[in-house]
Amino acid sequence: MALALDSFCRELPKVELHAHLNGSLSRDTMLQLKRFHADSGLADQTNAFFDEFQVGAGDTRKLSDCFQVFSIAHTLTSTPETLALATTLTLQDFQDDGCCYLELRSTPRDTPHMTKVSYIETIIQTIQKSSRHLTMITRLIVSINRNSTCSEIDEITNLAIQYYKNYPDIVVGLEISGDPTVGSFQTFVPALNKARAAGLKISLHCGEVCNPQEVMDMLKFKPDRIGHGICIHPNYGGTDETWAKLCELKIPVEVCLTSNVNTKSSPDYDSHHFKHLYEAEIPVIICTDDKGVFSTSLSQEYRICAETFNLTPSKLARLSLNACQYIFADDTRKMLNDKLLNFINKNAL
Ligand code: 5GP
Repeated sequence: MALALDSFCRELPKVELHAHLNGSLSRDTMLQLKRFHADSGLADQTNAFFDEFQVGAGDTRKLSDCFQVFSIAHTLTSTPETLALATTLTLQDFQDDGCCYLELRSTPRDTPHMTKVSYIETIIQTIQKSSRHLTMITRLIVSINRNSTCSEIDEITNLAIQYYKNYPDIVVGLEISGDPTVGSFQTFVPALNKARAAGLKISLHCGEVCNPQEVMDMLKFKPDRIGHGICIHPNYGGTDETWAKLCELKIPVEVCLTSNVNTKSSPDYDSHHFKHLYEAEIPVIICTDDKGVFSTSLSQEYRICAETFNLTPSKLARLSLNACQYIFADDTRKMLNDKLLNFINKNAL
């Protein structure tokens, strides 16, 4: 039975809408990247390196400590060549896991070998190149870290708008991520308004820590989707008002089960807020967040969701079907929808 569910979850065409590139690097990808960095002094520290990168269920690090792990991946993706390789291998991983549409997100950054412009161009070119041999459709969401200065916020927003105009078939959105205990949402509002006016869709990491005022401000902004959405229900650090607002607006939530359990944002799978969102008929999209850091995959997240909340294959397939409604690439929605409906009909779900 467990095996059957496993293979069903792999075969189900899935939509991934919340995956951070530098958190999604598999062990194999990191090993391949390390070959490019043989001179960097990291070559002899393989085990310590991987142990630190991966955040398991019993990890003693707090949520804010977990943000340090990304600097490990960043050391491996600091040149255009390694960034391109990381992107290529990560896209292949998602396709191999049965993902048919991916919205990859990443934060453009300056490195000693690359500017933010070359960062974003490298990812766009790699997505274009990969699309020649992959069946999975990939789009890019540009991320802004919460620790950014005002000039960085403007710079990245302008880049996102410029590349959205030049590559509307690749760049689809802008999102805010990074340590939720740092910075203030209000700082980002002018830039987000500008991006939205230019046509970009917006996703916000919302309610990762208890901060009802910020959650309310974010919900009132009416983003196209929110990530995590933990501290919104009153049982999880939200208030009656924040929960009522989410129920009223029904903003789709990108739910990341293993990420929330491994960072102890949720004590275990059984008590995960997915249950409340699902029962309140708030749209939910099952996502991985950082499949490398949390040693997971999208099919594993679907399986965990089914096992924890007693969802039948038919309900799982409908979760994936519904997710198609909330993708940022409007032109691919119908095609994905048909693909899911075919799968549902073929398997008599
Ligand atoms: P990158 O943007 O470098 O491709 O991916 C790593 C970055 O994604 C991290 O530095 C962090 O800003 C963001 N990120 C990854 N996982 C999470 C998460 O669970 N919550 C938040 N708020 N940000 C995250």
